[in-house]
Amino acid sequence: VRKLKSIPKAQYGGRHTVTMLPGGGIGPELMEHVREIFRLGGMPVDFEVVNIDPHSDGNDDLEYLITSIKRNGVAIKGNIETGSLDTGIASRNVALRNELDLFVNVLKCKSYPGVPARYSDLDIIIVRQNTEGEYAMLEHESVHGVVESMKIVTAENSERVARFAFEYAKSHGRKRVTTIHKANIMKLSDGLFLETSNRVAKDYPNIAHNNMIIDNCCMQLVSNPHQFDVMNMTNLYGTIVSNVICGLMGGAGLLSGRNYGDHYAVFEPGTRNTGTSIAGKGIANPIAMLNAAVDMLEHLGHNTHAGILSDAIRKTVCDDKILTADLGGSASTKEVVNCIKKYVIEETSKMKWF
Ligand code: ADP
Ligand code: MG
Repeated sequence: VRKLKSIPKAQYGGRHTVTMLPGGGIGPELMEHVREIFRLGGMPVDFEVVNIDPHSDGNDDLEYLITSIKRNGVAIKGNIETGSLDTGIASRNVALRNELDLFVNVLKCKSYPGVPARYSDLDIIIVRQNTEGEYAMLEHESVHGVVESMKIVTAENSERVARFAFEYAKSHGRKRVTTIHKANIMKLSDGLFLETSNRVAKDYPNIAHNNMIIDNCCMQLVSNPHQFDVMNMTNLYGTIVSNVICGLMGGAGLLSGRNYGDHYAVFEPGTRNTGTSIAGKGIANPIAMLNAAVDMLEHLGHNTHAGILSDAIRKTVCDDKILTADLGGSASTKEVVNCIKKYVIEETSKMKWF
């Protein structure tokens, strides 16, 4: 895949420092488990924990967070709660992605055998524009009762995302990229996105390219999802399609998502849930956040440790079937985490022996 222009160099002792943003809802409890597993597995990462007060009305916390990520180059995050509709504070999650120019979001949607799901054997890559479209946060009430909301599509960002999708397909032996749009109605904005994707596709003669309108795409996803390989789309369609596919594969607690720009990378659960309603109950599925931790280790080049953690997750979920309620099981967060810890310790002690 397209390499970032700068992957942070390890510090003395081969360790990296990574910004950790627990966020709200289930974020803090899941991050505790990440830290504990990293400690037990001797993962070569130190965390710089940054908290954001969801009720503060300024952006000092956010600026501090951005400075930390710029310094470390890499972050793992939960979802920052967005206050009630009338606080006037824009989504800090969106602002963070924009400030760091994390122009692409990548979701690897690969089924876990043994997890009860609508479909098995899915293997879809979602490549999503991550900083513009309907998320430009340019809304205003022009006169009372009339709101204008601007959707921004640029040739530059459309090209960056399309190129990412095709480069990904090329370097991972994928056969097809499908561009998702609504260019029949939004002729200028989605038209530019589609036109740009068609132009980029010409540089990749060995990869098939087709396009599909978002509404048909949703129907095709629930009725025949195996037709999809790599998907390329704008921001809002991306969040909808991500949630549909996660729903088909087992829900919000399973997959992780990667946010990349030219200089920074931020890892998080794929559907970016806060999980406010289940926070503090010890029942949240920890797998999505742990998968984000695997992605982060891989990104930093700590492949052995990434492998140890992802094997431990796979054995726990697929072999032992220790599953939380969202996956149809009855295990608590702790029971899942304890099983993962057991495998991590087992593998790590073997490493030390040799
Ligand atoms: P809310 O913010 O209302 O809690 P979210 O949008 O965060 O809801 O999440 C959507 C749904 O997915 C909720 O029902 C939530 O409980 C569930 N969910 C999200 N993350 C997890 C998780 N890690 N484990 C189990 N359920 C989850
Ligand atoms: Mg929510």
